[in-house]
Amino acid sequence: MIGGVWCNIIKLLDKVSLDNKPLKQYIVGKVGSGELIQFWFDPWLSIGPLFLRFPALFQPEKKKDCKIVDRIGFVGGNSRFRWQWKRNLSVGQEIDELIELSSLLINIDLNDNTDKWAWLGSVDGQFSVGLVKSLLTKNLGFQGLYIPSRCKWIPRKCNIFIRRLGMDKLATMDALKKRNIDNGDQTCVLCGEEDESVVHLFTSCYMASSLWSIISSWCKIPSIMAFSVKDLLETHENIGLKGRKKEVIQGIIRIGCWCIWKARNEARFNNIPANLAGIIRELKSVGLFWLNSRSKDLNVSWREWCSFVNM
Ligand SMILES: [Zn+2]
Repeated sequence: MIGGVWCNIIKLLDKVSLDNKPLKQYIVGKVGSGELIQFWFDPWLSIGPLFLRFPALFQPEKKKDCKIVDRIGFVGGNSRFRWQWKRNLSVGQEIDELIELSSLLINIDLNDNTDKWAWLGSVDGQFSVGLVKSLLTKNLGFQGLYIPSRCKWIPRKCNIFIRRLGMDKLATMDALKKRNIDNGDQTCVLCGEEDESVVHLFTSCYMASSLWSIISSWCKIPSIMAFSVKDLLETHENIGLKGRKKEVIQGIIRIGCWCIWKARNEARFNNIPANLAGIIRELKSVGLFWLNSRSKDLNVSWREWCSFVNM
């Protein structure tokens, strides 16, 4: 039952983090009638609160504190979504997120039972302080997932994107197919050679591997060797870097991923062909702007940035 001791535990856990994630997310709502659990803010799909997973879609939500029953209803025995947006959704990330969220919700059945809470930190679902303590010392991500660390000098929207990438939550063609959403041609729009997946797009695609190779020589670092998204996002930790240069490389690789995804969306949804020169131009200009606007004691010139000196 919600309320009483659970309510206090949830409020308390909201202030404690494990790997940048509120410990609250180890608690998951078991949906009954959907009248008590908040649709966006409460963790009820074992993937954490939906407003964190679907930040673009959360923006146009009309009633941010709505309950599950406000968004999933029944008509003639069939569940049906009851979205309420402040405006029309825009093509791109908002629609991507709507498709992904809808596929997650499709099998949710509301019933007459009262909503309940379960603890995810143990196999048997039983909560204990000792278990929380051991989780805090284990340094494991939520449910063992890889959760990329936050980069200090890139904006929040970019960090959120990177977290979704690291947790394999992007709506790539293979991810949609796994959820039985047939979205047409599966071929990667950047190279046209292989099926699109997260690993392909960000590591093995011709466009990505060329980008990482150019970044290696631009930033004068060893070749970026990545066979997984985790390898890629942890590069800065594994090539002998220290201090500011390490942080700058961390951000540049993250912005590189951001630019690849933007180019992919432009190509897929707006038929604008991706080109490597355009991706590099955007990476360098956005990167310098974010670096200078978010680092108080740093003012890197375009010339310094392009030759990557004084980092
Ligand atoms: Zn490709």
